[in-house]
Amino acid sequence: MSQDTEQRKPARKKVELDPKLAAYKGVWVFVEHERGHVHPVSWELMGEGRKLADKLGVELAGIVMGAPGEETRQFCSEAIRFGADLCYLMEDVILKDYRNEPFTKGLTDLVNTYQPEILLIGATTLGRDLAGSVATTLKTGLTADCTELAIDLENRSLAATRPTFGGSLLCTIVTLNYRPQMATVRPRVMAMASYDDTRTGRTIEHPLGMIEDMIITKVLEYIPDNLQGKPQLAFADIIVSGGRGLKKPENFQLIWDLAKVLGAEVGATRPVVQAGWVEADRQVGQSGKTVRPKLYIAAGISGAIQHRVGMEDSDVIIAINSDPNAPIFDFATYGIVGNAMVILPALTEAFRQHLSTVKLAG
Ligand SMILES: Cc1cc2nc3c(=O)[nH]c(=O)nc-3n(C[C@H](O)[C@H](O)[C@H](O)COP(=O)(O)OP(=O)(O)OC[C@H]3O[C@@H](n4cnc5c(N)ncnc54)[C@H](O)[C@@H]3O)c2cc1C
Repeated sequence: MSQDTEQRKPARKKVELDPKLAAYKGVWVFVEHERGHVHPVSWELMGEGRKLADKLGVELAGIVMGAPGEETRQFCSEAIRFGADLCYLMEDVILKDYRNEPFTKGLTDLVNTYQPEILLIGATTLGRDLAGSVATTLKTGLTADCTELAIDLENRSLAATRPTFGGSLLCTIVTLNYRPQMATVRPRVMAMASYDDTRTGRTIEHPLGMIEDMIITKVLEYIPDNLQGKPQLAFADIIVSGGRGLKKPENFQLIWDLAKVLGAEVGATRPVVQAGWVEADRQVGQSGKTVRPKLYIAAGISGAIQHRVGMEDSDVIIAINSDPNAPIFDFATYGIVGNAMVILPALTEAFRQHLSTVKLAG
């Protein structure tokens, strides 16, 4: 285990796979959807699944489970347009709302019948619940919250990398003697797959084989999570984040001011959240959110690995730090060495003037 990418190469030692397990072929992505919307992490995983399937020379499949109807079938077509070769479709009125028992039964049945070698699920609330119970039922390995997926061709196995020891190290886990190899990945860790509306593929239907009386959990009412007013960092295009370098909570207002002018979300490091300067939903990093904005402005942030893993895939990173040797300058696109309390208001004013000129010209 090491942070060093060179040393993170998968184990090369060849392990003979039980012939029964060698029959497992193909990469699957579970397509998570709720109330007519597919969770974007499913399409991010489809992009990653495509790469893994191509490397192994096998098919990529989407798994769609839901109530019978046009909408559920539409998700199958979308899975194919996002890169799958085929889609396994399980339709049953029991699957209208997510419940652990029928989804676990349905997905384990599909796995036992069609035998995929890799099964990827988003590390969402639903995905974490489902992946754990499916892996336990199938008695196979599950690597949670992966940051990188690769194929160890020597062993034909999934090499799933994730932070460990409090995020100070990255380790690569291989599941050599069990199938399928399961992994969950948090939203925004992988890039979204490209969409091709001319792509076609097969749909294989499979019954759930349960009746409502077999299920203990009942859905009495659907109460949507009230997202109004909650930070939406994961899918923001611009994020302005502040760290301990801002010294005191009053100075964090400078982050809000710049974010307002840019129409950005506000992020923060863990110490800032722990100090109560902002709510926990705004923490970026290993134990917070993973983000992938077009622009990430980091002020007074050192760039510790636990913060870095949550934001390093941003398209452009601008770091403001008074220490020219701060680690954040090792991976920032642009670095500004100086006092954040001076630079932030200057940037806010410059953007305000620029944007009002653009508006006037428009
Ligand atoms: C298990 C675990 C999980 C963790 N998860 C997370 C996580 O999810 N997210 C996270 O962020 N951290 C996380 N951490 C904490 C992480 O290790 C770092 O401690 C943290 O990211 C540092 O936050 P910071 O950059 O705000 O503070 P510091 O590391 O203290 O850095 C402050 C920076 O501000 C600069 N500075 C000082 N004064 C000024 C000024 N006037 N103008 C400009 N710059 C200035 C300094 O040079 C310094 O680089 C985790 C730690 C552990 C052990």
